Amino acid sequence: MSALLDADRLDRTAVPLPVPVPVLREQGQRAVFCGLTGIVWLHRRIQDAFFLVVGSRTCAHLLQSAAGVMIFAEPRFATAIIEERDLAGRADPNDELDGVVDRLLARRPDIRLLFLVGSCPSEVIKLDLSRAAARLSRRFAPDVRVLNYSGSGIETTFTDGEDRCLEALVPELPAEAGESPALLVVGVLADIVEGQFRRLFESMGIGAVRFLPPTRAADLPPVGPGTAFLLAQPFLHATARALEERGCTRITAPFPLGAEGTTLWLEAAARHFRVAPARFRAATEAGEERARATLARSRAMLAGRRIFFFPDSQLELPLARFLHRELGMELVEVGTPFLHRASMQPELALLPQGVLLSEGQDVDRQLDRCRAAAPDLAVCGLGLANPLEAEGITTKWSIELLFTPIQGYEQAADLAALFVRPLDRRTRLAV
Ligand code: SF4
Repeated sequence: MSALLDADRLDRTAVPLPVPVPVLREQGQRAVFCGLTGIVWLHRRIQDAFFLVVGSRTCAHLLQSAAGVMIFAEPRFATAIIEERDLAGRADPNDELDGVVDRLLARRPDIRLLFLVGSCPSEVIKLDLSRAAARLSRRFAPDVRVLNYSGSGIETTFTDGEDRCLEALVPELPAEAGESPALLVVGVLADIVEGQFRRLFESMGIGAVRFLPPTRAADLPPVGPGTAFLLAQPFLHATARALEERGCTRITAPFPLGAEGTTLWLEAAARHFRVAPARFRAATEAGEERARATLARSRAMLAGRRIFFFPDSQLELPLARFLHRELGMELVEVGTPFLHRASMQPELALLPQGVLLSEGQDVDRQLDRCRAAAPDLAVCGLGLANPLEAEGITTKWSIELLFTPIQGYEQAADLAALFVRPLDRRTRLAV
């Protein structure tokens, strides 16, 4: 479901940044997906976790259509439907929820970590899922840990679901004994990408490297004052804050998209762990060269083409940097739902002078700007893609960028190809 939210008023001001990039700030109607969407990639990553959405039939429908129906496997997500009698206060939703969890855990003894995921309806009826999680955790300890987070579409965008889920995991991470230095890579990555990064860090001589979230609930990585963390995704602001509160140190860097982004991301970790420059180059040179070489074909297709980003995934800034600097695309407008200046500073510094950066959304105004600019490609959510296509504007669904492994040297060409394909399709349809 696309959450179309009415906001109060239009507020358009130029906000100065530490780097000279003016930002158009907008508050108006937004067209975004909600945080429940994150369950699609989170449940594939944490393989003994279950995501129980406490929501409406609409929430259930969203999940089923986004994740598909698994015929041969037991699903690891479901929706506890809030019925009308819950909404009307004729039944105690806590009792009903306890009953659903009882039946679920009796039927699925393999579940080790259960997330109660809040939604717009559960927030509207003010169902306190943190108390429910604490109550159920006490009941099912030590076999099952029960946590909660919000995936609601009220004032969020779809990647916030992963941020809220990982934030909920942070207090559960065991304390690292002593202050031994360790690197924590934060954000859901495909297994293949995790393996590649692990090997790169090993060849640099960075010893303890851990990943959050892990693939098994029992393998939560320890953290402590010796832990330095590197975000693999740009939308994990609450998780980063929670890790800092646990005494961890944040390593700020551009994100590992493209050859350049991957090198800068790895380099930031190398600097923190005092890896000798020669050793760093030896570990990364071949991968970077290979990635640059594989980008040449896409560059021939994309150089000089004009791209417009609607705010949706929070990946917009790193993607814009990659598409402009490594593939020669012209940035018409780079929209982002939220601009977190601290973590985005390295990306902002790499964007071209004069780029139109917008934060928030007033969807009608933005659509007008897009139509007037007539870009070659617009990156947007599903709700805007079909109308734009009908108007002759080629689109790329931003959600695909979360379903596809795109980080690291070996995935750079696949990432570029995601932007080539819609243009290629449009050209073929035209002949
Ligand atoms: S959480 Fe809200 S926006 Fe998301 S599907 Fe449920 S009702 Fe719709």
